[in-house]
Amino acid sequence: MNVYVMVDAEGLSGVHLASQVMPDGCHYQEFRHLMTDEINACVEGLKAGGADRVIVRDAHASGSNAIWSLLTDLADGYVMGNSRDVRLPGFESCDALVLLGYHAMAGTEGAVLEHTMSSRQWQNLWINGRKSGEIAIDAAVAGASGKPVILVTGDDKACAEAEDFLPGVVTAAVKQGLSVEGAIHLPRTQAYDLIRKKTAEAVEKVMSGGFQPYVAASPVTLRLELVERGHVPSLSARPDIRRIDARTYEVTAETVEIAMSRL
Ligand SMILES: [Zn+2]
Repeated sequence: MNVYVMVDAEGLSGVHLASQVMPDGCHYQEFRHLMTDEINACVEGLKAGGADRVIVRDAHASGSNAIWSLLTDLADGYVMGNSRDVRLPGFESCDALVLLGYHAMAGTEGAVLEHTMSSRQWQNLWINGRKSGEIAIDAAVAGASGKPVILVTGDDKACAEAEDFLPGVVTAAVKQGLSVEGAIHLPRTQAYDLIRKKTAEAVEKVMSGGFQPYVAASPVTLRLELVERGHVPSLSARPDIRRIDARTYEVTAETVEIAMSRL
């Protein structure tokens, strides 16, 4: 059983401020430690639970947030930096996906740092007509090759979203969202103990076939509503899109991953 771990920022334990997750933010350097420590707890839990190989992808912003010299050697590979349009580089060799430190979709009430891909540019995204966030996007990318998401961690709102889209998924809520920049956090060691426990539980469950992949029916239509006017591509430049209104357009492609690259 080989497990791939996608690591985002906003749902990590101890994180509730934009200034923690932005590289120019005043709390960013401490945040890098928080991400690194939580990755290590997750890898330890997966290995203790019986995972053969664990590949971790630093998936926030530039993909170079975790502190290299402090990452555990228990993992079998770390994907860092820019991977262009490939969402899960190296996922082919894995059987299941963990979403660590994920956040609720744009617009979710009381969710810490809620957004979908870009808080400045994207208002809402729909996959085949269902309003979706990054949990569903990455679940659908994995689902296109028949592989399930087995664990999602984040605030309570992200966990509820995961359970809504992915029935039976294991979740670990490391904090309760109060507002965009507010949360009630579990203390650090309790959060990491919870993650170790839930990762082990997820590996056990996947080995007994306890999860379904999240499959978006193909062809996939993505509808994107932008925050600002004036940014929907013109039809002369992009004849492949469908303009819905001055801020909204659609693309259709074989898979979510290909459609995402065409937005
Ligand atoms: Zn994100």
